[in-house]
Amino acid sequence: MPNIPEIYEELGVPTVINAASTKTRIGGSLIRPEAADAMRDAAGAFVRISDMQARASELITEVTGAEAGYVASGAAACLTLGTAACIAENDLAVMNRLPDTEGIPSEVIMPRTHRNGYDHAIRAAGATIVDIGNNDVHVGTGSNDVEPWEIEAAITEETVAIAYMQKPYLTPSLEEVVEIAHANDVYVIVDAAAELPPAENLQKFVDAGADLVAFSGGKAIRGPQTTGIIAGRKHLIQSMALQHLDMHVAEDVWEPPASLIDVDSFEGVPRQGIGRSFKTGKEELAGIIKALELFVDEDQDALLAEWNELTDLVYEQLSGVEGVELERTPGAKTDAAPTVVVTLDEPTVGITASELVYELRQETPRIFVGCDHLERAQFTVNPMCLTAEEASYLVDRVLSYLA
Ligand SMILES: *Cc1c(COP(=O)(O)O)cnc(C)c1O
Repeated sequence: MPNIPEIYEELGVPTVINAASTKTRIGGSLIRPEAADAMRDAAGAFVRISDMQARASELITEVTGAEAGYVASGAAACLTLGTAACIAENDLAVMNRLPDTEGIPSEVIMPRTHRNGYDHAIRAAGATIVDIGNNDVHVGTGSNDVEPWEIEAAITEETVAIAYMQKPYLTPSLEEVVEIAHANDVYVIVDAAAELPPAENLQKFVDAGADLVAFSGGKAIRGPQTTGIIAGRKHLIQSMALQHLDMHVAEDVWEPPASLIDVDSFEGVPRQGIGRSFKTGKEELAGIIKALELFVDEDQDALLAEWNELTDLVYEQLSGVEGVELERTPGAKTDAAPTVVVTLDEPTVGITASELVYELRQETPRIFVGCDHLERAQFTVNPMCLTAEEASYLVDRVLSYLA
């Protein structure tokens, strides 16, 4: 059995064997040890948070090619702050009013096929989502997804941005959306929270012209769970900083880092902003900076080879079992990780996929497999957050339930 950290023993909280990939509800990913060390080290002294944000911005700029970058308490927090920046830009009075947007342009256009639970983060800034197009292509009643002209037709004086959910299978292309947005003077905010690896994606959506791109710091980057990074236009990042940093400051002595905030361009100081609820501490900032540095230097081919090996191991150990059908979905550079899809012939194995998944979660340690298609009697094993030892243990536990 894998090592169980003392703290969980002490607290009496069962640990989880994670074959479900980077899911917030079971702890996301394991923070890189060097990043955890950096956090502990950072805890030993005071530092100006804006100085740490400026340092993070430098690194995010370097690895994404964007004009500037920022860190908040998750990709979702970055989306809220980014939306707040698109609405307020650098108008201090608007910053002070958010999320009250009455009488202020604050519509964000979003293709219906891009809508998802995380768009709550966009609405939290005070924006109204204008949902456009329909879902024909996914329900089989038509061959078209949202069309570029539909996006253009929805832009009005009230529009501030187009929200784009980055997934390889969604259309229209980001480039097309950016072209329409910029021709009409509105921003494009990209949710790319889970689109790493490949590391090239750090640059890809910035290169495509997006104004803001958010990534989770707690998924494949393996930084602190409560971090997200956002890369984009300098004036928008400045607006985010003004709405996020502790603003209980005296104007006469206010001198935040010039690379982040151009004090001279403001008549005053905004008050605590909408982002105050997404506070990011010196420890998280140190952790995400260290983790991001290591992520971009990581040997991706070696990592993928490791994941493939683990997937092969699970596949081999489960093959030949009566009532179990296996499929391997490939891990490629454009896909995060390979997975094993296990489909049960429920009468043969004597247990339903739902029952099996439920039972595995009741064990000590708890075992979490992917379960997006229980209705197909399927579960999945994803190697991203798994060791070889855990994978073998998981297979044994699965087999123990099958007739
Ligand atoms: C994980 C995820 C988020 C949230 O990221 P956090 O860093 O946990 O806030 C947002 N959008 C998508 C598509 C995600 O997969």
